[in-house]
Amino acid sequence: MQLLVSDTKSCIKIIGKRLMSTHEILYYPDPRLRVISHPIEKIEPDIQKLVDEMFDIMYQHGGGGLAAPQIGVPLRMTIIDDKEHKPFVLINPEIVELSTRKVKNEEGCLSVPGVSAEIERPHAVKVKALDISGEPFEIEASDNYLARCLQHEIDHLYGKLYIDYLSALKRERLAKDMKKFLKK
Ligand SMILES: [Zn+2]
Repeated sequence: MQLLVSDTKSCIKIIGKRLMSTHEILYYPDPRLRVISHPIEKIEPDIQKLVDEMFDIMYQHGGGGLAAPQIGVPLRMTIIDDKEHKPFVLINPEIVELSTRKVKNEEGCLSVPGVSAEIERPHAVKVKALDISGEPFEIEASDNYLARCLQHEIDHLYGKLYIDYLSALKRERLAKDMKKFLKK
């Protein structure tokens, strides 16, 4: 997949433009959802603005997680509100450990609105990331929404969507239902 921008600086320019535009979530099959996002080299004030904007958009749409590429900003950053912890930001998150045991659960995505599907994922995950001040932290989760959400959001940073785990037939059906939902 070809990258739309080449470095963090260009991404920041995109952020600047985005902040002046209306909030918009990209929907499947937008090719910008397939881009591999860039690591954030420096946490500039624009990044904080982007985080604020992302929280606004996420709550506006009733989501529990949102990754920057979902609003067309190809940077390795995601926000999560699992309702159990204080809402938090993960900058340059990386999965450190995944359990071999997997569990199935219902999953949805703001970029594939109006539909959901049962997806199998490792039940436990350990992630390392930077917080908004650039401090490294680790987070572990198992058998809950957070464990699933961390994996789902980090997938976005690699251009991956939860529907990629489905068969082509199921994915097509879901895409049709999504279009119907968007027409309503
Ligand atoms: Zn998603």
